[in-house]
Amino acid sequence: MVLSKNFSQSDVSMHSTFASRYVRESLPRYKMPEKSIPKEAAFQIINDELMLDGKPRLNLASFVTTWMEPECDKLIMDSINKNYVDMDEYPVTTELQNRCVNMIAHLFNAPLGESEVAVGVGTVGSSEAIMLAGLAFKRKWQNRRKAEGKPCDKPNIVTGANVQVCWEKFARYFEVELKEVKLSENYYVMDPAKAVEMVDENTICVAAILGSTLNGEFEDVKLLNDLLLEKNKITGWDTSIHVDAASGGFIAPFLWPELEWDFRLPLVKSINVSGHKYGLVYAGVGWVIWRSKEDLPEELIFHINYLGTDQPTFTLNFSKGSSQIIAQYYQLIRLGYEGYRNVMDNCHENAMVLKEGLEKTGRFKIVSKDNGVPLVAFSLKDKSRGHGEFEISETLRRFGWIVPAYTMPADAKHITVLRVVIREDFSRTLAERLVLDITKVLHELDALPAKPSSKKPVNGEENGKISGSLEEKNGTVVKKTAMETQREITAYWKNFVMAKKSDKNKIC
Ligand SMILES: *Cc1c(COP(=O)(O)O)cnc(C)c1O
Repeated sequence: MVLSKNFSQSDVSMHSTFASRYVRESLPRYKMPEKSIPKEAAFQIINDELMLDGKPRLNLASFVTTWMEPECDKLIMDSINKNYVDMDEYPVTTELQNRCVNMIAHLFNAPLGESEVAVGVGTVGSSEAIMLAGLAFKRKWQNRRKAEGKPCDKPNIVTGANVQVCWEKFARYFEVELKEVKLSENYYVMDPAKAVEMVDENTICVAAILGSTLNGEFEDVKLLNDLLLEKNKITGWDTSIHVDAASGGFIAPFLWPELEWDFRLPLVKSINVSGHKYGLVYAGVGWVIWRSKEDLPEELIFHINYLGTDQPTFTLNFSKGSSQIIAQYYQLIRLGYEGYRNVMDNCHENAMVLKEGLEKTGRFKIVSKDNGVPLVAFSLKDKSRGHGEFEISETLRRFGWIVPAYTMPADAKHITVLRVVIREDFSRTLAERLVLDITKVLHELDALPAKPSSKKPVNGEENGKISGSLEEKNGTVVKKTAMETQREITAYWKNFVMAKKSDKNKIC
């Protein structure tokens, strides 16, 4: 989105060297140009500017798929002009989405009879899926409260403080209080016992995460289910669970099929998963599955018929592309259970290669778990010389790697971690290469002088007030010494770190 800010003079127009063959004048940046330009010029200008974006496949910050087979790329391009919502005109595409919903529901052990079809919908991603699932819980809770003649104006939802930003969005946009279970040092996911303690009569559901964004760890949904069953029995409430399996939904069924986190647990009423993460499709597809029809209030479903026959819809947007759904269907039938298991196995093994490589340096503490989403989250053991994870992240960019560093949420905020997500296209060779490059970065940082403030605890950085203007001492301008230059660099870094810290949820 665009938030308004003032722009500088250099923002006003763009110049393109290559395209000067076609356009002699520079193009205005923020106003639509008066005249048309040749298509070759438009292509060249945009293509050149996009070269400055990072390379998606080296973007280790994201779970989102960056590689698919050329056959699937072709299917995507062939359906790029199909609006998904025209279900009557494109009945086959609708049928493919229904097949995907059913395949995923079975993968999550939905209790479906022989001839029963699953309840679920394709979305733009897990965020939309979560909005829909949250709305269903809110509406069900309201209906129940109304039926009991009780007030229903103060709904809340219980989650861990490690939830992804979309839960905060849900809470704010749909006016539900977000009650977060605090994290603590060395425990970065929701504690089921504490979560159940926070549940009250106004709780619409508890949201558990299968694959915490921060360190990939699976929350203990089984324990949550059992504790909540007990509490419901005592209180007479009917609090149930949503599982945010955005990243883990396509991992656990293949790597740990015996792990009970899904509809095998009676209180799990809905699950979301991102098709564009380990579902192995490019950005733009997610899924939400409900346990049964009773868990999705009928009044949330719209029936449209002006495009032809009656079509039920429960989505936030009306129009959207079809390609991602077709691509998801491709992956499901192309890979099958065997193929997904192989891909996930590989990702897991590569994560272990990377983890062991990092451990061998002796410099890092690993904060991710072996049986979770294939990622490695790690922090420095020793930061006494003042060079931290943000500097490692920034220096790695020089080698082409995009590895994010971030601080943990409230109550574990003093912990900074680096996170490398292992996707299908991240090979073992790349894992080994990355360890080598991280080692080089460590050597580089070791060669730098220690930062003057290095003895202060990391929390001391919070106020961001560091050595003021070095040029002015006692009112006179003095020449900078090497040490002062170093201090200036430090100040720059601190500001940089502060900016990063305040920039919550840069990761996705
Ligand atoms: C990525 C993620 C989301 C958001 O999903 P999108 O598909 O990007 O909208 C929500 N929850 C968790 C745990 C995630 O990892």
